[in-house]
Amino acid sequence: MSPYQIHLSKYPPSSPEKHHRLFQSSWFVQFASWLEYSPSKDAAYCLPCYLFTMKASRRFGWDTFTITGFTSWKKINDGTNCAFLNHVGQDPCSCHNNALKSSEDLLKRSQHIDKNEIYRVLSHHCLDIQNIRGQGYDGASNIWVLNGKLQGEGPVVSNDCTVAKNG
Ligand SMILES: [Zn+2]
Repeated sequence: MSPYQIHLSKYPPSSPEKHHRLFQSSWFVQFASWLEYSPSKDAAYCLPCYLFTMKASRRFGWDTFTITGFTSWKKINDGTNCAFLNHVGQDPCSCHNNALKSSEDLLKRSQHIDKNEIYRVLSHHCLDIQNIRGQGYDGASNIWVLNGKLQGEGPVVSNDCTVAKNG
C-alpha cells in the first residue's frame, strides 16, 4: 500500500492566473510517505489521513487533504508556511503522524505474509479462472453440438436408447 503518485512532465494549471504555480513532482520525493496527486482534479491528498484519521481527531481543515483536495500550490515551500509541512505537523502525535503510524503498522503486518505465498495463491486462482473459462467454453460448444444433434438427427435420448437396446 503506497500513495498514488503519478509523475507527469507537466501538471495542469490549477487556475487561469498569470503567475499560477503547478504541482511539482519533486514534492513526491519530499513527502513520499503520504502525498497523493489526482491529475483529474489537480489536487493533492494525504493517503494515511484519508484511511486512518479517526472521526474524533478530525480537526478543522482535515477534509482539505482527504475529501476536497489541496490545490493552493503557492502555499508549498513558502518558507515556514509550507502547507504540506503544516499538515504533517511538528508534534509526533499530530493527526497526520498518528495516521501515518497506523498505515505503517498495517504495511508491516501485511509484509509478514510471504510474497511467494501470495503469488502462489494468485496464480492458483488464475489457473482456476482459466479452467472455468475453458469449461464454460466447452460447455457452450457441447450445448451447440447437442442442439445440432437435436435439430438435425432427432432426439439424442432415443439414439441412446437404440444403442442400449442393441448392446
Ligand atoms: Zn496527513
